[in-house]
Amino acid sequence: MTRATLRPDLAILTMAGFLDARPRVGYFYSGKKTMTSVTESMMNLKVKDFQSLPVVVSENMTVYDAIVHMFLEDVGTLFVVDENTLLQGVLSRKDLLRTSIGSQDLNTIPVHIIMTRMPNIVYCKKTDSLIVAAKKLIERQVDSLPVVHETDKGFEIVGRLTKTNITKAFISLAETHDL
Ligand code: ADP
Repeated sequence: MTRATLRPDLAILTMAGFLDARPRVGYFYSGKKTMTSVTESMMNLKVKDFQSLPVVVSENMTVYDAIVHMFLEDVGTLFVVDENTLLQGVLSRKDLLRTSIGSQDLNTIPVHIIMTRMPNIVYCKKTDSLIVAAKKLIERQVDSLPVVHETDKGFEIVGRLTKTNITKAFISLAETHDL
């Protein structure tokens, strides 16, 4: 094969950023990864590598105390558990706001009255693919998923997966691939 035959191919690879060319050095691999390897790394991201700590409250906590708890813990979603610390419900910012603009006494209403409850809770497991969990967040239009461990009695909560965790994963993917 002649130099002239190869040149157009090398020019295309240089333009695409896969090769660099320097005088007296010649052509060399720039380190740019193919989209296939980005896709592959994306498919390998797991919930357990990006999840946050869960913040849980008891079913009998008052709405007032839940609001205080949400501020102190600096989270957007609280998970509600029963006396065996098994998942029973989810409380979002708007669940608490909705109750606050009503005429009820926030110091007497327990959170189990206003929470979204099982079996309507969308959840994920720590070994799940992050992409599958991200799709659940978008399709169900929620801000976070409890990460659960299934037992014969119910779901233990082992983590919290939020849209922020997905954004962090997105950045880490870009950094890993020098994008
Ligand atoms: P906000 O209500 O502050 O916008 P979300 O979008 O997360 O926050 O919540 C919307 C509604 O969906 C709320 O009523 C909340 O209780 C419920 N919700 C939140 N997370 C989940 C979940 N993982 N599974 C089922 N319902 C959820």
